[in-house]
Amino acid sequence: MTNPNLSQNQRAQVYPEIQKRYPEVCSHCQKTLDECNLKPFDPVTRTGGFELHHTRYDMGMLNPNVIRFMCHSCNHLEEFSKKTILAYENELSASQKTNLEKHPIFQAWFSNKIAENNYHLPLSEVVNGGARISGAHVKTVRDWIKPLAYSDESPFTVIRVLGIDTVCLKGKEPRLELPNRYVELFNDEVQKYSK
Ligand SMILES: [Zn+2]
Repeated sequence: MTNPNLSQNQRAQVYPEIQKRYPEVCSHCQKTLDECNLKPFDPVTRTGGFELHHTRYDMGMLNPNVIRFMCHSCNHLEEFSKKTILAYENELSASQKTNLEKHPIFQAWFSNKIAENNYHLPLSEVVNGGARISGAHVKTVRDWIKPLAYSDESPFTVIRVLGIDTVCLKGKEPRLELPNRYVELFNDEVQKYSK
């Protein structure tokens, strides 16, 4: 049996692409064609070979990045069923949707908070405070901060201030405002971290 989701034509089209990408063994149990009593895939008769298993259904049925070789018994395990994968995709898009709703809450909080604090905040406070206020997972908040803090186009940057990673508005880095007694200490820190 071939994958019931692909026509014989589609299967013949995509099979060689999977051969280029992956060793021709079952991607789950690692058995070879021989061990599975299967004949090699024949592009002329379009018979033989492994079943083609989709790891995702929302990324295109002919997208070789989401297709793997699988033997018949592995391909029929509950964990690889279309039902399981579709449920996973639904859950994934639901959490992405929630995160989309939480992002503006984080952004509003962050803009106010950093303005209140002379345009610099410890990174840990942005992460933990942002997660607390928005209700998003800290990992999600870290993903939000990445383009904000580490991209050239962003108005913000992250520098170490007295050993603490600090998010600052560019041009408002706290060293410009540090009392003199901190400047030396700070410079030592900068030297340490710029090596
Ligand atoms: Zn297998």
